[in-house]
Amino acid sequence: MTTRVLSVASEAYPLVKTGGLADVVGALPAALAPHDVKLTTLIPGYPAVMAALDESRVLHRYKDLLGVEARLLGGVAGGLELVVLDAPTLFTRDGGPYADPDGEDWLDNWLRFAALGRAAADIAQGAATDLHPDLLHAHDWQAAMAAAYLRFGKATASPSVMTIHNIAFPGYFPAEIFPLLDLPPEAFTIEGVEYFGGVGFLKAGLRAADAIPTVSPTYAEQIREPEFGMGLEGLITARRDRLHGILNGIDTVIWNPASDKNLATTYDAATLRMRGYNKRAVEKVFSLTEGDGPLFCVISRLTAQKGMDILAGLVDALVAMGGRLALLGSGDAELEVAFRAAAVRHPGQVGVRIGYDEALSHLMQGGADAIVIPSRFEPCGLTQLYGLRYGCVPVAARTGGLADTIVDANEAALAGRAATGFLFDGVTADDLTGALRRAITVFGHREAWRSLQKQGMKADFSWRRSGQRYAELYQRLLKAPASVQS
Ligand code: ADP
Repeated sequence: MTTRVLSVASEAYPLVKTGGLADVVGALPAALAPHDVKLTTLIPGYPAVMAALDESRVLHRYKDLLGVEARLLGGVAGGLELVVLDAPTLFTRDGGPYADPDGEDWLDNWLRFAALGRAAADIAQGAATDLHPDLLHAHDWQAAMAAAYLRFGKATASPSVMTIHNIAFPGYFPAEIFPLLDLPPEAFTIEGVEYFGGVGFLKAGLRAADAIPTVSPTYAEQIREPEFGMGLEGLITARRDRLHGILNGIDTVIWNPASDKNLATTYDAATLRMRGYNKRAVEKVFSLTEGDGPLFCVISRLTAQKGMDILAGLVDALVAMGGRLALLGSGDAELEVAFRAAAVRHPGQVGVRIGYDEALSHLMQGGADAIVIPSRFEPCGLTQLYGLRYGCVPVAARTGGLADTIVDANEAALAGRAATGFLFDGVTADDLTGALRRAITVFGHREAWRSLQKQGMKADFSWRRSGQRYAELYQRLLKAPASVQS
C-alpha cells in the first residue's frame, strides 16, 4: 500500500531556493516514488510559488490561523505535488523567504513559520479535503513547529520525522510570542518548546519528533558535541536512539554534465577534454585571462560557516601560487567587500560575482578545475557532490558530509586511483594553503588529475540508497508509532 507523507519546508527547488535545503526538499518526492511513497510538499505561498501554481483547488479555509486568514491550496508547480499555505498577510512580500529586500529578517518570522507548522499539523490531523497523510516530515526550524503542534494537538497517531539540515539555525524567539502560538501552557517547559527562556522552534521539533534524521553520518556524530550542537547537543544526545545519519543525494537529471543545458559544451568521463570549452566560458564571464595553473571556483553563501573569511585572506597567496579564482556568492557584507577588493587587486586572475545565479553555478561546475569548500562545519554539503559529478575536484575541510563524500588524494589513494579530492583538517589559513598547494601540484600531473576527476565522476551520489533509507525509516515508524518521549 502506498505510504502518504506530508513533507513540510520553507523552500523547494525549483520554486524557491536559498540553499541546499531547497534542492533536497525538491528532490525527495522523486527519490521516494520508487519505494511506493507519495510525498506531498507543504510550502508557504510566496509570490513565486503562487505564480507557478496554475490549477489549484481549495483544500481548507482558515478564518483564523494564529490570527490570520489563510487557505490551503492543492496543486502542482515546478513538477512538485504541493499544498500551498496561501496567507497573503504573511507571504505576499518583496524580498526573500526569510528577509526583506535589505536582507533584514522579517520581524514576524515566528508567526510566518508557526503558521506553516500549525497548518502541517492540521493536515496531518485530517483538516484538508482529499489529503490524509500517514506521516509528517518536517525540515529545519521553519517547519519544526509542525511536530510540536502534532504532539500538543488532538490525539493523533501520525508519526513525525524532523530532518536537521543545519542545526546552527535554531529559530529562537523571545518568550513573549508563546501566548500567541495557541499551544497549551504545559508546552512552555523544557520538555516542550521552551529553550533558554524563550521559544526554540528547532528544539521544539527535535523534542517532539519520532525520528531525527540528519544529512550525513559524520554530522550525526558531530552534533552530539558542544562544538557543533549549538546548544542542542544535550537534547540530541538524550534522543540519540532517534538519530539517523542519512546522506543527502543529488538530482542526477538536473545535475548531469552529459545533458546540462547551462553548459557551453556537454561532456562525460570519456570526453573530459571538452570541459575546456566550459572553462573558456567561465573565464569570459569572470573576465579572467587563460593560464597554466588551475582555475578554482567558489559557489557559496559568503559566511563564516563556509570558512569564507579564511579564503578571503588567502586570495593573494592563491594567485602567487599560480591559481586563479572565480567566485559566485553572496552573504556577509564585509566578505563581499573583501572578495570584490581581491578581484580589483588581481584583474584577470580573480573574478567575483556577488549574487545568486543557478545557471552560472552549473557552468562553473562544468568548467572550473576545482571547487574550494573550507567550511567550519558542513551538515552534508551539495556543492562538492555536484563538483564530483562534474569533474570539478573538491578542495574541502574534513568535516560533516564533506568528510563522508570525498576521498583525500593522499599518496596511497592517488596511487590506488581511489582519490576524488583534497581534504584538510582544521580550518586555518595554513591548513587551507596546504590543501590548495597540494591541489596545484597534482594539477601539474595531468594523468593524476584526470584520475581524480574520473574517480569522482564514477561515484554514485544519487538518491537511490538514501531514498531507500528514508522509505525504510517511514515504514518502521508506521509499524511502531512509538512512545514519543524518550
Ligand atoms: P548550504 O545549503 O549550507 O548553503 P549546500 O552546499 O548544501 O550549502 O547547498 C548550497 C546550494 O546552493 C547548492 O545547490 C549551490 O549550488 C547553491 N548555491 C549557493 N550559492 C549560490 C549562488 N550564489 N548562486 C547559485 N547557486 C548557489
